[in-house]
Amino acid sequence: MAANKKMLILPGDGIGPEAMRQVRRVVEWFDKRRAVRFDIKEGLVGAASLAKHDTPITDAVMRDALETDAVLFGAVGDPKWDNVAFDKKPERAILRLRKEMGLFANLRPATVFPELVAASTLKPEVVSGLDIMILRELTGGVYFGEPRGITTLPDGTKRGVDTQVYTTPEIERIARVAFELARKRTNKVCSVEKANVMHTGVLWRETVAKLHAAEYKDVQLSHMYADNCAMQLVRNPKQFDVIVTDNLFGDMLSDLASMLTGSLGMLPSASLGAPDATGRRKALYEPIHGSAPDIAGKDLANPLATLLSFAMLLRYSFDLADDAALIEQAARKVLAKGVRTADIMQDGATKVSTTGMGDAVLKELDTLAA
Ligand code: NAD
Repeated sequence: MAANKKMLILPGDGIGPEAMRQVRRVVEWFDKRRAVRFDIKEGLVGAASLAKHDTPITDAVMRDALETDAVLFGAVGDPKWDNVAFDKKPERAILRLRKEMGLFANLRPATVFPELVAASTLKPEVVSGLDIMILRELTGGVYFGEPRGITTLPDGTKRGVDTQVYTTPEIERIARVAFELARKRTNKVCSVEKANVMHTGVLWRETVAKLHAAEYKDVQLSHMYADNCAMQLVRNPKQFDVIVTDNLFGDMLSDLASMLTGSLGMLPSASLGAPDATGRRKALYEPIHGSAPDIAGKDLANPLATLLSFAMLLRYSFDLADDAALIEQAARKVLAKGVRTADIMQDGATKVSTTGMGDAVLKELDTLAA
């Protein structure tokens, strides 16, 4: 049997722990029934950590995150901490994790399950069968570039400055992730910037094209301006496979793409760091939704986004593509049978709680593995 896989689970706040409870049941299912076993540690983050340790994430949890094979994260955020200093906010936990783990590549799949086509605001024929991956550069660009800040000018008016900055190594490493991902999908990358008006865009396009010519000629590469990409995502999203873009455009385009699917409670994500000498990357997996304080503690949350994040973890960190596919298949079967949490409820479907959705997934896993 292969060595145990190390996983750090950080449930966080609000619906984070509720969704994670269902994922833990699936993890136990894998532990019991299949050849893969997990060494699991669990830690506090966000408001849960603030309440106990007066910090959104302790150094000990941070150390665990740096030492584990993969982190599975729930969500952080609690309105009780809305009016505290920035470094005391629950959300600082995820920012520190991203920064100290060097998670520069953010993978956001936008997949439309056939059973949920009606949840999208777009026409069924536009989104049905959609399966695209937005790859966003996460640690560079205008959110971090210097100089930045607001200054008061001699005449009393103010001036705000942010700096968009990218270097060739930063562009190359994200482009490399895009090409590698595409090879495991349908082999197409669309690189997105604004080379028509931005110097970083010119450098981005040149660098991606050069890497492509040198190492990834087998992958089909196209380039697109970010504003056009926003239009194309709404007009004909199925033309894309992997979209790779910078931090700012990726922020916008990945949110836009997630809404093509119409259901926040269904969408997972992964954030990856640079490979070490053995080729292993630091990695954190999380649903794209937040802590949803409006429904927290009511057993109403849809746990599928967190569960599908665990499936991504199996695929990208543990190379267990078959087990990941099993989870995705179980989720699909549950939806096909009309089982729905409140957020994706449709006429004629059966409404279930968070726990009920966990029950339904486990039942399908039993059937699939029988
Ligand atoms: P949110 O994603 O928490 O909720 C938005 C809406 O979607 C709410 O109505 C919520 O009930 C619903 N929703 C979200 N996930 C759901 C699920 N799994 N099942 C059913 N319904 C779901 O976003 P928000 O309300 O803007 O933020 C709430 C808190 O979460 C804030 O403190 C915010 O800072 C934090 N947040 C954290 C993360 C993170 O941990 N990475 C991400 C986004 C927001």
